[in-house]
Amino acid sequence: MNRRVYFDYSATTPMKKEVLEEMLPFFNTDFGNPSSIHSYGRQGKTALDIARDKVAKTLNAKSEEIFFTGGGSEADNWAIKGAAFASRSKGNHIITTKIEHHAVLHTCEYLEKEGFEVTYLDVDQYGLIDMDDLKNAIKENTILITIMYANNEIGTIQPIKEIAHLAKEKNIIFHTDAVQAYGNEIIDVHELGVDLLSISAHKVYGPKGVGALYIRKGLRIHPLIHGGAQEKRRRAGTENIPGIVGFGKAAELAYENMEGHINKMETMRNRLIKEIMETIPYTKLNGHPTKRLPGNVNISFEFIEGESLLLSLDMVGIAASSGSACTSGSLDPSHVLMAIGLSHEIAHGSLRLTVGDFNTEEDVDYVIEKLPPIVDRLRQMSPLYEKVKGGNK
Ligand SMILES: *Cc1c(COP(=O)(O)O)cnc(C)c1O
Repeated sequence: MNRRVYFDYSATTPMKKEVLEEMLPFFNTDFGNPSSIHSYGRQGKTALDIARDKVAKTLNAKSEEIFFTGGGSEADNWAIKGAAFASRSKGNHIITTKIEHHAVLHTCEYLEKEGFEVTYLDVDQYGLIDMDDLKNAIKENTILITIMYANNEIGTIQPIKEIAHLAKEKNIIFHTDAVQAYGNEIIDVHELGVDLLSISAHKVYGPKGVGALYIRKGLRIHPLIHGGAQEKRRRAGTENIPGIVGFGKAAELAYENMEGHINKMETMRNRLIKEIMETIPYTKLNGHPTKRLPGNVNISFEFIEGESLLLSLDMVGIAASSGSACTSGSLDPSHVLMAIGLSHEIAHGSLRLTVGDFNTEEDVDYVIEKLPPIVDRLRQMSPLYEKVKGGNK
């Protein structure tokens, strides 16, 4: 009998029961608009305040520094466009990296069309930026640095504190996309010294379509969504109260037992990496060996196609993700895997397994049992593999 195991927690997470329960009343019985004066409205306003406090607490931020958005992508867009347009009189140069999430990369590309100049920093074979490269990229007219906290594909964690320190020294706004790091790392915005930080609820067992942007007190950025006076006049639109309440609960739960969560993820991750690398030849671990997200496994298998691997895994009930931009129907390999120097062929044969709270050691066993024969079968179809194998004998 086939199991059904989910190893794609970096794509999204299932909502925790406690989160759903907390959200439910706000869909009907407690439906008030927080902007209304009457008791229904006040109830909504209270729920909003409580959720904001909860999220703020997890980042060691002040409540008034947390602004709810329609997700991580919106938070990234707002931070980058908002900071860029607010600083236009000071300069037009932005620094980012080649391995950002598309919510950052495509926003930067849009800004290039609007007259901004963007430097896309290279990363090394592990996906780390070089601090000297960053220093050298800074110019008189640099107004914004946006560098992700942890990469969603290969899990690499950047030296965010150092980057923030440098940005501060040079009087440049620093934004970090912490969507993947949130809930998997202790994040203290004051200790880090960041100006803007994006997070998203559905990556931490909360609902989809809700996120937040931390905006350091006193920092002015332009709004992205104009209209009503919500979110202290900085993000218009009637608040997604059920979503925000769910986010608050998910944030609280994630930070209640962070250490236990990290340990559990690391144990499963390490076993997956070790077993896969040991039992399957012609493999390569992508990302940094230690500076990586506790739940991220990304491995390239020579002589196979990531898509075929995903389909074969899906047939035995394993949900994973690959290193190519299959969702867009494009055949281009992932920009992240290209940036760490993989060849097209190797990047195409990449597999991402991301573990989460609902995984068990039995799930790990199951992958370790099912993956090697699948890889072997797919390789048998590769003429190149036959040649290499023949040569080794
Ligand atoms: C998922 C993700 C986003 C986008 O967040 P959404 O809430 O899905 O819009 C942005 N950045 C990173 C690193 C992500 O993993």
